[in-house]
Amino acid sequence: MPYQPGRHFLQIPGPTNVPDRILRAIDNPTIDHRSAEFAALATACLEGLKTIFKTTGPVVIYPSSGTGAWEAALVNTLNPGDRVVIFDAGQFASLWSKMATSLSLKVDAISGDWRRGADPDALRSKLEEDTQHEIKAVMVVHNETSTGVKSDIAAIRKAMDAAKHPALLLVDTISSLASMDYRHDEWGVDVTVSGSQKGLMLPPGLSFNAISAKALAASKTSLLPRSYWRWEDMLETNAKGFFPYTPATNMLFGLRESLKILIEEDGLNNVFRRHDRHAEATRRAVRAWGLEVFAHCPEQFSSSLTAVLLPAGFNEAELRAIILREFNMSLGAGLGKIAGKVFRIGHLGHFNDLMLAGTLCGVEMGLELAGVPHQKGGVTAALAHLTERAPQVSAADGAR
Ligand code: PLP
Repeated sequence: MPYQPGRHFLQIPGPTNVPDRILRAIDNPTIDHRSAEFAALATACLEGLKTIFKTTGPVVIYPSSGTGAWEAALVNTLNPGDRVVIFDAGQFASLWSKMATSLSLKVDAISGDWRRGADPDALRSKLEEDTQHEIKAVMVVHNETSTGVKSDIAAIRKAMDAAKHPALLLVDTISSLASMDYRHDEWGVDVTVSGSQKGLMLPPGLSFNAISAKALAASKTSLLPRSYWRWEDMLETNAKGFFPYTPATNMLFGLRESLKILIEEDGLNNVFRRHDRHAEATRRAVRAWGLEVFAHCPEQFSSSLTAVLLPAGFNEAELRAIILREFNMSLGAGLGKIAGKVFRIGHLGHFNDLMLAGTLCGVEMGLELAGVPHQKGGVTAALAHLTERAPQVSAADGAR
């Protein structure tokens, strides 16, 4: 690879760009994880995460990628052979579903075309048919990173309540937490799964479970085998500011800095508004190019990434390779059954207007060099949106 001057543009939908001050925080000397200093650090992280998940209940931190937290959500709450429902709405839902099968769960997938999110009506019908309450959990990916489609978790909860069904609600927020509005308690979620490498602006390496009282009660009797992922040991030691095994100490330094930025300095509502605005500017660019946003319904558009459908006969891998070679920018690949057809623009985390402008310039130039038929003016359309000024609010208001 020849030398590339300037900064690499990491515009995949996670891992995202890590702010220098978070890198500096991670760069602190590692401390004794049984010291009072560590207990203060861990407690600050565990408490701050409650604000991010919008919960008063416990949040568990694992030294693992998001996949670990997926597994933890299942093995802590369910029993061998339990029936679970999942929406086949994208590649990550399909991987979580595969995991559930490998853990001996009986997965009932509600199929979809990947351009739409979870359908609350279909779920309600399925749950109403289950008069014996054999279904023990509903699994939903809040923001499908493979498609740029968001699901309405409040509507899913409403459908479950309308069906008077007691299944647990397990939600993956790996690419939405701290980028898009999310409310663990208010939306009646039982386990929220997330990871460090997207909206939290950290490197990959930490994952999370936010846990409801109902999920915690289920964990007291559930029998799926678990050891490393067991909530009980975690919660017991977390209560004193410690971990049952060696924690990822330096990642926690980074997490404390991230929480300070998100909660005290920026404010979650500012964070969400910025993501909404960048997503809208990106969609305007895509439409001006004459290309198609993959997500079908405007109310389901993701604010953390945009998946773009290329015209038939053009391969996204070739386009991305040209953009990487010529402009030193990484974009998200098409995944699963839409590989080759769709590329993804990540606009989440540590990101601003000029970074978005640069990203879209790279895409527009790449379309030209790759010979993809398009109209000029996508960048101009995005800039016009970015210069419509939205009012900022203080961090105190932004946090509400
Ligand atoms: N779920 C979603 C929505 C994701 O975007 C990802 C990864 O990008 C995962 C799960 C898997 O997480 P990880 O790769 O951190 O294990």
